[in-house]
Amino acid sequence: MKSTIADIPRHSKTPVPILCYHSIDTTGSLLSTSPRVFSNHMLHLKRHGYTTLTFGDLVDRLSAKTLMPPKLAVITFDDGYRNNREIALPILKRYGFTATFFVVTDAVGKRASWIERDFSTVLGWAREGGHTGRLSENHRKIFKSRNAYLASLDKTALRKELEKLVLVGHFPLMSFSELSILSSHGFEIGAHSHTHPFLAELTENDVYKEARRSKEMLQNRLRPPVTSFCYPSGNYSTNVAHIVATLGYSGACTTERSSVSPSNHNIYALPRLLMHDSYDAHKFRLCLSRWFPLYVFAQIIWKRVKQ
Ligand SMILES: [Zn+2]
Repeated sequence: MKSTIADIPRHSKTPVPILCYHSIDTTGSLLSTSPRVFSNHMLHLKRHGYTTLTFGDLVDRLSAKTLMPPKLAVITFDDGYRNNREIALPILKRYGFTATFFVVTDAVGKRASWIERDFSTVLGWAREGGHTGRLSENHRKIFKSRNAYLASLDKTALRKELEKLVLVGHFPLMSFSELSILSSHGFEIGAHSHTHPFLAELTENDVYKEARRSKEMLQNRLRPPVTSFCYPSGNYSTNVAHIVATLGYSGACTTERSSVSPSNHNIYALPRLLMHDSYDAHKFRLCLSRWFPLYVFAQIIWKRVKQ
């Protein structure tokens, strides 16, 4: 018999926040959360009675419509920075939390070189003073469509943000043996593609290659199966999601700013809350609350009014 929303137990309708962290460091970049802020977030979750699941376990429960506790959170890390193991892991263990680490297989044990690859032209342009004509119209359009926030900054602020991002791109990423230790301790390792491209801009064949290769490499080197996928830069399309599903992943996540509604979601486009230093205690509490969608909506309206 087909179940309906009304059949889902009442408290399983509580939205589930999936927190998305990248590097745990003090650079203040858009991809960074300082150890102090990260520690405060985890302390807040513990004090307020949250339990955690891996992303894969959440997907399984959503698919099976399993009863879920009202205070549930999922902690995820993108890109596989070594500082996740060195700084975040002891904090997670202290509070008994689990997490999912999404890694880029071609960059395991190396650096996040895609940051420089994606931003070098614009950074070069900003470093030279942002002279008109140095950046082609096409490049300008691509940059704007990929990074609306960065594209909205003035040249000085843009240059500062890009310099910080490039610095983070030089931080070491975890090796397979480090990932293997995490996996053996019950943490989930998910796929974040093979080379961190903008998947919606690739041919169908190349999307298959990226999603298949990352799954196969992780399964060969770590404890299989690898069932969770994270779209690089949150960039995906219906077609990309379909390919990810075809390859045997059970769920995937984006960077859309919202919590997951257990009664109304797309298992191959689960939203996440992108964390960084601006999430002080007040804002972190807000993002876990049911008022957060209203706050995001108000922010969008405010930006449109300002433009
Ligand atoms: Zn990433």
